[in-house]
Amino acid sequence: MADGFLDHVGAVLAGIEAEGLMKREREITSPQGAWVTVAQPGEPGRRMLNLCANNYLGLADDPRLIAAATQATASHGYGMASVRFICGTTDLHRALERRLAAWLGHDDAILFAACFDANGAVFEPLLGEEDAVISDGLNHASIIDGIRLCKARRFRFANGDMADLQAQLQAARAGGARFIMVATDGVFSMDGTFADLGAVRALCDQYGALMMVDDCHATGFIGPKGKGTPAQAGVSADILTGTFGKALGGALGGYVAGAQPVIDLLRQRARPYLFSNALPPAVVGAALAAIDIAEVASDLRARLAENAAHWRAGLEALGFTLLPGHHPIVPVMLGDAPLAQAFARALGEEGILVSAFFFPVVPRGRARIRTQMNAALRREDLDFALAAFGRVGKALGVI
Ligand SMILES: *Cc1c(COP(=O)(O)O)cnc(C)c1O
Repeated sequence: MADGFLDHVGAVLAGIEAEGLMKREREITSPQGAWVTVAQPGEPGRRMLNLCANNYLGLADDPRLIAAATQATASHGYGMASVRFICGTTDLHRALERRLAAWLGHDDAILFAACFDANGAVFEPLLGEEDAVISDGLNHASIIDGIRLCKARRFRFANGDMADLQAQLQAARAGGARFIMVATDGVFSMDGTFADLGAVRALCDQYGALMMVDDCHATGFIGPKGKGTPAQAGVSADILTGTFGKALGGALGGYVAGAQPVIDLLRQRARPYLFSNALPPAVVGAALAAIDIAEVASDLRARLAENAAHWRAGLEALGFTLLPGHHPIVPVMLGDAPLAQAFARALGEEGILVSAFFFPVVPRGRARIRTQMNAALRREDLDFALAAFGRVGKALGVI
């Protein structure tokens, strides 16, 4: 080991700790769900109400998904031990790609190990140095990284600011770009706000640009049949990326859906596809079952929307500052990282599992508790949590 290297790393860690930015992970010993058991040092695990999972439809411990995963493991084994193009493709992988494409209204789809990989993969093969990519300022880290990996000229517009997007489209056109791609999250995950895809689509059409949408926090529970934000806005994305790690069962896996030549080229050139293992059959089989459930889950979507409305109204009545909106992501704004951490800790004592979000995940001074609703939460769970938020808010002088 090079002299001083571990001292240097230790000093960086000490700096993170001193700034109050250290993240600590809790160990859950039960399935993911509305209530989870969290390991406590030296004590039996503690039951806690979970308000920070991306388990929007409550499918993470659904017996139908567990059965589908078990069945796919029995029929196709545990692991693929190969990338897709060598010997990692099963009939289940292709069935899932076709099923996704048909559900989401695209020609075809391609699977990745995660949406982080899908976003890392999608730009570089499709855009060259003659091209431009214009990215919303609040886009997910994986989009930012994916754009860094491609040679296209980069432009950025202020979050949701359509006048700025238009200015960037004009700048890209004036710069002589061959193709322009506008990239946006369908839902901005730290704020729980929606992109105005109707307006983005109209500007893309006006300037002859492509629209890429990352719909991780929408697919399965937003829009008709859970098809996500483009369907909700009545438009189509040229390229759509998404995850199986959130509403669709919460395991892992991502995808890109789009026009046939786009998917065909990604299969030839996308580096995280070519140089990384195929998804295991259990995940693929369960994802197929999750889509079957999500497509017809209007009851779960209705419960989720009711929970989100009740939760927002309850927090507002207590006097908390929320970011406005109607997505099941409900951020409770606190400002300081140490306050947000103290708040999360105090809620933990009350039996509520929440997580503080602070720099570098959100800007400095914009720390928050990001609460998330799901369809598995019952009304009494939410009222239990509202009472605890009230006590902690008063104790910490937030309300
Ligand atoms: C969660 C998320 C991702 C990453 O998805 P994984 O499948 O967990 O890698 C990408 N983009 C957005 C907007 C997300 O919220």
